[in-house]
Amino acid sequence: MLFQFENTYARLPETFFARVDPTPVAAPEFIAVNKALAGELGIDPEGLASDEGLAFLSGNRIPEGAEPLAAAYSGHQFGGFSPVLGDGRAILLGEVIHRDGLHRDIQLKGSGPTPFSRRGDGRSALGPVLREYLVSEAMAAFGLPTTRALAAIWSGDKVYREEVEPGGVFTRVARSHLRIGTCEYFASRRDFEGLRTLVDYALNRHYPDRVDSENSALALLNGVMERQASLVARWMGLGFIHGVMNTDNMSLSGETIDYGPCAFLDRYDPAKKFSFIDRNGRYAYGNQPNIAHWNLTRLAEALLPLAGEDEEKAIAAVTELLERFPDLFRSSLANTFAAKLGFDKADENSRLLAESLLSLMGEQQVDFTLTFRHLRSAVNGAKADAFSALFPRPESAREWLAGWHRALDAAGILADTAEATMRTANPVFIPRNHRIEAVIEAARDKNFAPFHQLHAVLQRPFEEQEENYTFEDPPLAHEVVQATFCGT
Ligand code: AMP
Ligand code: MG
Repeated sequence: MLFQFENTYARLPETFFARVDPTPVAAPEFIAVNKALAGELGIDPEGLASDEGLAFLSGNRIPEGAEPLAAAYSGHQFGGFSPVLGDGRAILLGEVIHRDGLHRDIQLKGSGPTPFSRRGDGRSALGPVLREYLVSEAMAAFGLPTTRALAAIWSGDKVYREEVEPGGVFTRVARSHLRIGTCEYFASRRDFEGLRTLVDYALNRHYPDRVDSENSALALLNGVMERQASLVARWMGLGFIHGVMNTDNMSLSGETIDYGPCAFLDRYDPAKKFSFIDRNGRYAYGNQPNIAHWNLTRLAEALLPLAGEDEEKAIAAVTELLERFPDLFRSSLANTFAAKLGFDKADENSRLLAESLLSLMGEQQVDFTLTFRHLRSAVNGAKADAFSALFPRPESAREWLAGWHRALDAAGILADTAEATMRTANPVFIPRNHRIEAVIEAARDKNFAPFHQLHAVLQRPFEEQEENYTFEDPPLAHEVVQATFCGT
C-alpha cells in the first residue's frame, strides 16, 4: 500500500464535510514529484513516482484507505462574510503520519467539482499549480511554517478561464486544512456542538500542550494568535505578500496556506500589492499585520459562544487576548529584523537600525532582497561597496553601515557570528515574480525546464550559487510583474 492512511477528519460528524470522489482527468503526466517529502511521510518515493502513483495523484484512481471528502468552511473575503465556501476545487484523500509523529493531510487541488463548487469547475489551471509548488517549497526552504507540495501534474485537460489554459492537479500536504473559516462555519450556523467538537479536534491536533487549559476556545485562540503573529512577521522579513488573507485562507495550525496571488517585494514599498482583485490594497505588504489581527478578531467572535459562562465574561476574556496581538507581532517582527541585521535578538539599537534602513530603502526604492543579501557580505567590510551601490545615494548607505558596525561592536557581536545569523535570515534567492511568470509562460508549451531550474535554485536559497547568479536579479523594466491573479 502506497499510503498508510490514518484518517481522523473523516471520523468527525458528517456536518464537517461532503464525501466526494475526485473526477478523473484525460491524460495525466507528472511534472514534479517531491520524493524527499514522500520519504518524510512514509510513502515509497519510487512507488509515488510510478504509474500507480500518478493515477492516485491525478484523481484517476482512489488509493486503498483513502476517504475522499470536501471540507466545509465559511470565510470573510475582502471583509464580507460568505457563510458557505468549502473545498470547491480540492479533495482531501486522507491523512498520513509524518516522521515527526504528526498527521499530514494529503489533498488534491484541481481534482474536480464538489458540492461546494458553486459555479466553479473544480479545476485548476496549470499556472497556479506551478506557482504554489515553487513558492510553498521555497517557503519551506526558508524555514517558514507552510503547506508543502507533493506533486504537480499536467492533467491533459483544458480549463476555461479568461483564456483556454492547460489544466493541472496539485497535491498539497498540510498539518491540517482547518481554517479560521472552519470555526466561522459552525458559529454562523449556531451549531455550537459542532463548534465544540472542532475546537477540541484542533487543540488535540495542533496544540496538544494546551488541551488541559481551563477553556479550550480561549486556548485555541491564544495558540493561533501566537503562531500567526510569528508567521506574519516572518513573511514581512522575506518581503512576502500573501495577497488573499481572507479568513478561509488563514490556517489554525499556523502554516502559510493558499498561494493564489502571492508575490514577493522587489523594491521595498510598504504599500505594495500585486493581486489584481485587491483594488484597495487591503492585503498590501505593510497591511498584513493589521489584517492578521482583524482575522483573529473574527476567530474570537466565532469562538465567543464557548469562551465563558456568560457573554460579558466571554467578551472580556477574548478582548484581553486579542489586545496582546500588536505586542506579540511587534516583538516577532523586531526579532525577525534583528536576525536580518546579524543580532541574536532584538534590542533598542537593532530596532532603530532596522527602522532607519527600511526608511532609506523606501525613500530610494531599493530592492528588498538584494539589500539584506549584500548586507551579509558587508559585515567584514570586504564587500561593503556592493551594499551601498544599491542605493541611488550611496553615502546615506555608508553612513548607515557605520552606525550598524558600531552597534554590532557595542553588542560584542563578532563579524563571523553576525554573518552566520544573517546567513539563515537573508536569502540570496527568492521566487522572484518575473521568474515565476516565465515558468508559467514556458509551461503553456509544455516546456518545464524553467520550472525545474528555478525549483533547484530555490532548494538552497541561502547559498551563493555562482552558476545561478542571474536568479538573484530583480526584473528588468519590461519584466516587472504588475499584477497577479487568483488560481480560480
Ligand atoms: P481561494 O480564492 O482559493 O481561497 O478560493 C475561495 C473559494 O472559491 C473556495 O471555496 C474555493 O474552493 C472556491 N473555488 C476557487 N476556484 C474554484 C474552482 N475553479 N471551482 C470551484 N470552486 C472554486
Ligand atoms: Mg482558499
